Amino acid sequence: MHSISSRIEKVSPSLTLAVTAQTKAMIARGEEVYALAGGEPEVDTPTFIKEAAVKALMDGRTKYTPAGGIPELRKALSEKFKTDNDLNYEPNQICVTSGAKMACFNAILAVVEEGDEVIIPTPYWVSYPEMVRMAGGIPVLVEVKESTGWKMTPEQFEDAMTPATKMVIINSPGNPTGAVYTKEELLALGEIATAEDIMILSDEIYEKLVYGDAKHVSIASLSEELYNLTITVNGFSKAFSMTGWRLGYTAAAKPVAEAIDKVQNHSVSNATTFAQYGALAALEGDQSFIEDLRGEYDVKRQFVLSRLQAIKNIRVVEPEGAFYFFVYTGEMGLKSMNLCDKLLSRYKVAAVPGIAFGYDDGIRISYCTTLDILNEGLTRFEQFCREH
Ligand code: PMP
Repeated sequence: MHSISSRIEKVSPSLTLAVTAQTKAMIARGEEVYALAGGEPEVDTPTFIKEAAVKALMDGRTKYTPAGGIPELRKALSEKFKTDNDLNYEPNQICVTSGAKMACFNAILAVVEEGDEVIIPTPYWVSYPEMVRMAGGIPVLVEVKESTGWKMTPEQFEDAMTPATKMVIINSPGNPTGAVYTKEELLALGEIATAEDIMILSDEIYEKLVYGDAKHVSIASLSEELYNLTITVNGFSKAFSMTGWRLGYTAAAKPVAEAIDKVQNHSVSNATTFAQYGALAALEGDQSFIEDLRGEYDVKRQFVLSRLQAIKNIRVVEPEGAFYFFVYTGEMGLKSMNLCDKLLSRYKVAAVPGIAFGYDDGIRISYCTTLDILNEGLTRFEQFCREH
């Protein structure tokens, strides 16, 4: 008899990982697939980062580290927060863990109690509601609108609030919409959170990928109250092209940081030791490749935008960050799973159904791939839209 816990029975598998696996399986079978579903930079990790990890491995950095990470890395992250985000976190307020995903999970587990409500702007990054459920909390999904650039307004935030609200999740730049909240927008949301004493999980994993006039702002930097209420999450996966290394981190006010440290102590122990030395090299080394990567993405973003804007029966908002477009497909009258299935099986284009992000009238298209794949994939997507 297999008895699954009620917490886990309520949880859905990750649809984004499922689409990626299906696409990879088709490619392995020799089928041509135009993969616009990815969630990771297509380029390899820079060599100097890999060399630092190899050296650490060869130097015997093969044992446990403190739960929060090696002191040198936490110190470098403390400096990064000062320089990039105008935030003062001591090294012991920072916890390095196995990916930004684990960072979010640690943060949620550290503060969410059984029955606590967590407000999540929707479309959301696929794992937030499931993490909240696994912690015994209740996800409260707030459907954001294209007309507000896929961003939650202060009115929506206030309306969603109840006495049980414990936390709000803000992901800027966002996955799957690419939305970037301005400082004023964050201040307006932050004012409400402060008045009601609501904690904020600020997932800033795409901070380096912003375009045009958009600017990344860390909500914790906007006031002392917001600093105390916020858990800032970030990681090495996207900016440093290190998705497979599994390195992310949290930073929070001391009492929360201590709680996160306890979760880490009794779950992963520490992020992989020699990988942490790679991350240290990433922070200390030449970071010009990030700007190169961002420049390349901006070209692709504009290319995809012009192609999508020319298609009649879809709508698109210009994304200011990350490497995704969230395309409104409601006019086609197809459920997003059905749409993506047809697109993949008949037109060989992989995209992620909006339902994975809690929004069935859209699909996510990623531009973290080559211009050639984007070009052919979009030609096929145009044809699909013409025929539906
Ligand atoms: N947050 C968001 C918004 C993401 O898109 C992702 C990765 N897709 C993560 C967190 C997790 O990142 P990591 O691979 O470092 O666990």
